[in-house]
Amino acid sequence: MPIRNNPFGVGFSGEEKWVEGELRCQCCALPFAARYNSADPVPPTWCPQCVDHHPAPHEPLPQRLARAEAHSAVYKQRMVTMARALSATRRELRHVAAEIDHARRDGRQQAAAAYESRDELQEVLVAVAREHVPARGACSCGKRVCPTAAAIDGSGRAGRRVRTAAEDLEMREYD
Ligand SMILES: [Zn+2]
Ligand SMILES: [Zn+2]
Ligand SMILES: [Zn+2]
Repeated sequence: MPIRNNPFGVGFSGEEKWVEGELRCQCCALPFAARYNSADPVPPTWCPQCVDHHPAPHEPLPQRLARAEAHSAVYKQRMVTMARALSATRRELRHVAAEIDHARRDGRQQAAAAYESRDELQEVLVAVAREHVPARGACSCGKRVCPTAAAIDGSGRAGRRVRTAAEDLEMREYD
């Protein structure tokens, strides 16, 4: 009994081994998954669909035609499958693109909202600063010692910016 008909499977002789891989059918030219014994002199040449109709020398024409027809049916089926996969991929891409677009718009809205609230905050601070301008030993609000003016003047760069904005506004009003 030849080793490759061994009913015990793997490793009977100690030299053969089951190999799994993708092969290309020599009949229909399509790839197919194959599991074969490394002890076989050649790996499978035909895919399961072609095993029964693979080419032989001096074949009559009807047999060759039948094979071509069988192949064309398989190719058609493959094309339908691929077209479906393609349109599924396209749908997925459109979906991703829409999500990116959505995220971008959200991001822009958030940035706009942030600018808006920053401007609002600055307006409030400028309004406060205009009521508390230090002048000749007292604050313009009337207090001799004004904690609000001190807070504005003591808040460094932000305070200077608020004062400058308030003064700009004051000057523009006198223009
Ligand atoms: Zn084939
Ligand atoms: Zn074939
Ligand atoms: Zn004041």
